[in-house]
Amino acid sequence: MSDPDIKVHEKWMKEALRLANAALAQGEFPVGCVLVSQNQEVGKGSRTNSGGMAQNELDHAEILALRDWVKRGKPGHCITVYSTLEPCLMCTGALLINGINNIVFAYEDVMGGACGIKLGAISASGQTLRDYSMYRKLKVTSGVLRHESLRLFKGFFSQPNNNYLKGTPLEQYTLEAYKHEKQKHRQNH
Ligand SMILES: [Zn+2]
Repeated sequence: MSDPDIKVHEKWMKEALRLANAALAQGEFPVGCVLVSQNQEVGKGSRTNSGGMAQNELDHAEILALRDWVKRGKPGHCITVYSTLEPCLMCTGALLINGINNIVFAYEDVMGGACGIKLGAISASGQTLRDYSMYRKLKVTSGVLRHESLRLFKGFFSQPNNNYLKGTPLEQYTLEAYKHEKQKHRQNH
């Protein structure tokens, strides 16, 4: 990754983090997502209904960002998606089917993250068609402003009122990762 790339990635990840922070303030799981084409925002969303009466596993930040993009008339091309958390299987699939295969995320989702998926296994039945498959490539950049994102997830899990994904390996991993980061920080200063 070259320096200008990092600067651009951080600029848009900051926007995704801003959305995630606003979601967290509403008691939602802090996932924010921005779709970017030629350094312009073309869609955005944040996790909704991660708790409460309407809790569901459809209103993920990436899905809402895609809906926002559709509402705007599907502007741009060669879109990059910025998400504060590694996209899940549903969101990775939805992004790919919509022609978006450049994914940048901040914090790895050790439980539901799907960016390591072996796309070659999909449509393997049609060997000759495989090269034309919409699933043929996925470009993933991970760990952009990871610490900032990790801090938000730690904040979410530390709040007793938030029930979503409590008691899961992701919660445990997040609390340990945060502790580890803090120790590292202390050793360096
Ligand atoms: Zn998702």
